[in-house]
Amino acid sequence: MERTLIILKPDCVQRGLCGAVLERFERRGFQIAAMKMMRLSRRLLEEHYAHLKGKPFFESLVEFMSSSPVVVAIIEGKDAVEIVRKMCGATNARNAENGTIRGDFALSTQCNIIHASDSKETAKKEIERFFKEDEIFSYERLLGKFTYSKDERE
Ligand code: UDP
Ligand code: MG
Repeated sequence: MERTLIILKPDCVQRGLCGAVLERFERRGFQIAAMKMMRLSRRLLEEHYAHLKGKPFFESLVEFMSSSPVVVAIIEGKDAVEIVRKMCGATNARNAENGTIRGDFALSTQCNIIHASDSKETAKKEIERFFKEDEIFSYERLLGKFTYSKDERE
């Protein structure tokens, strides 16, 4: 099954919304393959947000992302990358649709609750960046056959 990386950002942890956000992925049918709390170092953030280096908000973003511990997790399921991104909503939370995570929980472009990998290639890189092999769990859930049809599970 496809895997994607999410980060519950400092605003999510500080506002006590981790459970509410994770619940959405679980209720949709996604499975958690890995999860841990960590404080992101400047070095790791400069790598993670390398494509944004030079943007006027870069320094402020690094400061924000290291201002509190975050929760990093791997979400697993069919088409996880695309669906999880859709569930997050637009980057600027003020433009995010109601019903999306950002649209329901945030009002800021920076403090927008969650990071999610933006493509399959990025997901692979980000999972390797944040997790060691032995921190990632492959397991079958008893309710799996009520989440997907037989064909979809293969
Ligand atoms: N960001 C910001 N100001 C901006 C654009 C982005 O502070 O004008 C922050 C915001 O937290 C965003 C992150 O930088 O989630 C990464 O930006 P990206 O364009 O990759 O958005 P995302 O993929 O998170 O929707
Ligand atoms: Mg992005």
